[in-house]
Amino acid sequence: MADFKDIVGHEQVIHHLQNAIRQKRFSHAYLLCGEEGSGKSLVAEAFAKTVLCEEGGIVACGKCKSCKQIESGNHPDFRPVVREKATLGVKEIREQVTADVQIKPYSSAYKIYFIDEAEKMTEEAQNALLKTIEEPPEYAVFLLSVSRQELLLQTILSRCVLLPFYPVATEKVKRFLMEHKGIPDYLAEGAAAFSGGHVGRAVRFAESEEFTEQRKEVLHLVKYIDEMTMAEIMENVKLFAAKKDAADGYLDMMLLWYRDVLLYKATKNVNGLMFRDETEAIAAQACKRSFENLQGITEALEQVKQRMKSNVNFENALELLLLYMKEV
Ligand SMILES: [Zn+2]
Repeated sequence: MADFKDIVGHEQVIHHLQNAIRQKRFSHAYLLCGEEGSGKSLVAEAFAKTVLCEEGGIVACGKCKSCKQIESGNHPDFRPVVREKATLGVKEIREQVTADVQIKPYSSAYKIYFIDEAEKMTEEAQNALLKTIEEPPEYAVFLLSVSRQELLLQTILSRCVLLPFYPVATEKVKRFLMEHKGIPDYLAEGAAAFSGGHVGRAVRFAESEEFTEQRKEVLHLVKYIDEMTMAEIMENVKLFAAKKDAADGYLDMMLLWYRDVLLYKATKNVNGLMFRDETEAIAAQACKRSFENLQGITEALEQVKQRMKSNVNFENALELLLLYMKEV
């Protein structure tokens, strides 16, 4: 289980929580708000571990009975709410929160509830929870994490202290992948760029075979496009687009490639490149392609992405893209 010191980024959130721990003054409810994979669960766990630690510092000691219990996932006063279905119903909230909160903490001064993906609560469940967070017992602290806060009732939102999770700088994410996960440089670079600054997502990318495979396929297309016939290219891009969930990833990766070419063409600098291990190929393309052409490709790629979402004139946008890609 993570400690505050293991978390990359989110300094302001951590600072806020550590201050509260130092002063032993907690809000009854916190809303951890940020995209999936941004580190909300890690922060929630680190917070619980530190608050419950017997040493009482702003960093968990890792040695006391409480720290050991929370590490092994069975601390009686840390209550992550378990969701077994796609939604979290009123029954679960009543059993795991409303009824449970009446029982005093077992071994520490606080009882901490954690509702991950709180937007999965049904409206009924949210209303049940609301009653509890309106008048909670002194010892109760509620942590709710959401990626889409607009799905929560306004009445819940207004009871919570909002803790926003912003994207972490790509360079920081990359360093983390290399230093803590042993991911090689070129892969860490791509995964970090792709994660949009969300460390959890970056780790998943870097460790997934699908991602490395995707990268390989995109590189093959953009590097050897000149030797392909229109039909072959069309086939390739259609193949990406047909991969449904992954399609956006492919198109994003293509965008990053052409962004690299554009960047290199404009600056001759290799430092900001996402595909730094492919500098030679990038330089060759930068030499061949005009700024207008690269601009055209970028816009066409954006259009393909847009239209794919709305399912209109997708083929047209695709053809436009191919024309630009082939026009050298
Ligand atoms: Zn401890």
